[in-house]
Formats: sequence, structure tokens, C-alpha cells
Amino acid sequence: MQRRPTSSAFDPCLSSEHEMPAPANPYAQALRSVCADVERACAKSGRRPQEVRVVAVTKYVDNLALAPLLAAGIRDFGENRWQQAREKLASPYARQATWHFIGHLQSNKAGKVASVFDWIHSIDSQHVAALVSRAAEQHGRTVNGLIQVNVAGEASKSGVPPEQVRPLAEALIRLPGLRLRGLMTIAPATDDPESVRPVFRELARLLRDLQAKLGVEGLKELSMGMSNDFGVAVEEGATIVRIGRRLVLPGG
Ligand SMILES: *Cc1c(COP(=O)(O)O)cnc(C)c1O
Repeated sequence: MQRRPTSSAFDPCLSSEHEMPAPANPYAQALRSVCADVERACAKSGRRPQEVRVVAVTKYVDNLALAPLLAAGIRDFGENRWQQAREKLASPYARQATWHFIGHLQSNKAGKVASVFDWIHSIDSQHVAALVSRAAEQHGRTVNGLIQVNVAGEASKSGVPPEQVRPLAEALIRLPGLRLRGLMTIAPATDDPESVRPVFRELARLLRDLQAKLGVEGLKELSMGMSNDFGVAVEEGATIVRIGRRLVLPGG
């Protein structure tokens, strides 16, 4: 094979890459399959598929996956660790996406996360929320916030217990850099998604309660449902599903 002269500009039309057929984008197929399940769950529960935002959880892949994920039509990306997220956010492709922070947020990362992420799904204290709000204001932006609720009371999970949702929400709506948009939960791991339906139903009930008590505009999001349980979550009213393995590890 001939080497390209290094002095001249690379001409894409002369590239030998054209001789190979473009491989099919595996994420496009995975996305179609996830969307078909979302549509089925919507049909079952009398909802419209446009009410459900699919967030691709990219924690399993590196930043090289961003371009093909975008090419597949995915625009919402979720990350649960700042260290991993910062690499992807440094990619030039990152600007085409909306970024969701979905992991436990430590106080010492709150400022950094608030400076770049568009949504934070894991607000679970007034202290962290105040840090997020202050950093967001300093960067001239507003971050969409969701309160993480530990509905099932699992010791291993973060999030506030249901009875603390309202007092925390009342504090959050006074913060200028944070816009309270709804609630998030992670259901207990299970092989039988039917068994966690009550968890999703309870989160939906907590949101209706907040809506009635607070009357805040735009407070309507339910971030619930992952690869193994999002069908049931959508039936129970999820407006945001966070899909990792099923979407970003197709066939894996
Ligand atoms: C990893 C993760 C997901 C995605 O999980 P999958 O089972 O791979 O779909 C969703 N939400 C949170 C908070 C996560 O950490």
C-alpha cells in the first residue's frame, strides 16, 4: 500500500476507506428496539411515545462511542461518575448532546458537575443542591434538577426517603441556579420487572403530590426505568428512561 505524502492535505475522496463498505451502526439497531418497547408500553398505558425521553447511559463505553451514538440519533447521554464523564465531555462531539448526571453526587464534585451537565438526577440534600445552584449561577446557567428518592428503602442506595421529598423540594425551588423538574429513582435489581411496579407507582404518586402542593411550572419529570425494567416504568408514567447495557452494549 502506498503511503500518502505527508506534506499535502488529506483528500477524503482519494481515501482507501471508500473501498470498504460502511459497517452498520449497531447503536441504531439497539435504539430501534428500545424505542419499539417504549411504544408498546405507551400503547398499553394510553401514553404518547413523545412523552418519553431516552437517555443513553454511556458509563460502559469510552468517548469513541460518542460519534456513532450521535449518528444513531441519540442526543441525551447519562454518566454516573465525574472522572469518567470529564473525558467524554472534552470530546468535540459532546457539544451535540444533552448531558445527564445520574450518579451519587459528592459535595466536592458538585461545582464541576453543575458547570457542564444540563440535568442532575441525583439531588439528595439541600447542601449539595446549594453548591450546584451557586456553581451554575457562577457559570451563567441553570441546571435541571431531579430529587433522587430511595423508594424501596434499600440501605445500599442513595436518595431521600419518600417523607423527605416535600421538605427538600420546598428548599430547592428557592435556589436560583437550579430548576426542580421532578423525581428520580432506581428500582431494586430484579429478574422480574413486574415486582418493582409498586416502586414506580409510588414515585409517580409522590410527584403528583408535589405538583398539587407546590404548583411549580415544569415540575413533571419522572426519571425511572433502566435496561431491564423500563417497559414497566413507562407504563407507570416515566418521562425519562436511563438505558445503559441494552443501548450502548448491543449484543454484549
Ligand atoms: C448504570 C445506570 C443505569 C443504566 O443501567 P442499565 O441496567 O445498564 O440500563 C441507569 N441509571 C443509573 C443511575 C445507573 O447508574
